[in-house]
Amino acid sequence: MKLYAIHTGNFKLDGGAMFGVVPKSIWNKLNAADENNLCSWAMRCLLIQDGKRLILIDNGIGDKQDAKFFSHYYLHGDDSLDASLKKHGFHRDDITDVFLTHLHFDHCGGSIVREGDKLVPSFKNAIYWSNLPHWEWATQPNEREKASFLKENILPIQESGQLKFIEPTDRVEFTDKISIRIVHGHTDAMMLPQVQYKNQTIVFMADLLPSVGHIPIPYVMAYDMFPLTTLHEKQAFLKEALEEDHILFFEHDPVNECCTLAMTEKGIRQKETFKLAEL
Ligand SMILES: [Zn+2]
Repeated sequence: MKLYAIHTGNFKLDGGAMFGVVPKSIWNKLNAADENNLCSWAMRCLLIQDGKRLILIDNGIGDKQDAKFFSHYYLHGDDSLDASLKKHGFHRDDITDVFLTHLHFDHCGGSIVREGDKLVPSFKNAIYWSNLPHWEWATQPNEREKASFLKENILPIQESGQLKFIEPTDRVEFTDKISIRIVHGHTDAMMLPQVQYKNQTIVFMADLLPSVGHIPIPYVMAYDMFPLTTLHEKQAFLKEALEEDHILFFEHDPVNECCTLAMTEKGIRQKETFKLAEL
């Protein structure tokens, strides 16, 4: 089995929204804002090569929205999904499984591309994995979360016939080396893959912990639907991850790919930060 970090590019989001109740005087030291109060965030995906399967966890923002949409997100950097796959010797047609942690546009926008006037799957040979409660949540969105669930990212997946659902029980075995943790605070039924790799467990954090700066318990995004649920899910996760020495893999941290944890007098914090390729 081999793991690769796949970099699909960076975007910008309001720093206040990203750090919730934490004041700017504090979060600005973790991720400095620009003149519009926007901070830079990665859209880093994880590619898992396991036997004949090539599993991509999330796929970035994609390229099919209009200029007005992208003008809000200030895409920057040289990375792209295709270039990053190519760097490791892969093509999008090689992907057998696209695993979507949740259906917010910065996680699943690369799922579908525009071909003429049609919207078609970007990964033509892949099964796309979601779960039914989250699918229903995303396709009948509440007013607060509606701007994050874009129909054009979601509905064509089902229309293509390539969509399958994972049964979102407490702990799901996706493969013999990948189990899934389900959390409900950020959005309903978000899925966090936990991968057994080189005798360690790597946890893909998605939006439970977008960056190293979000490890302290009250650092919960204002985007979250149920912040107190996130808070409890973070506490439970961090306790377990510390005890079992898990490695955290960050989707949105602009600098740090991975970290381990340590107990400090302030609570659980990062111990070492490093690149996945250094493992
Ligand atoms: Zn999200």
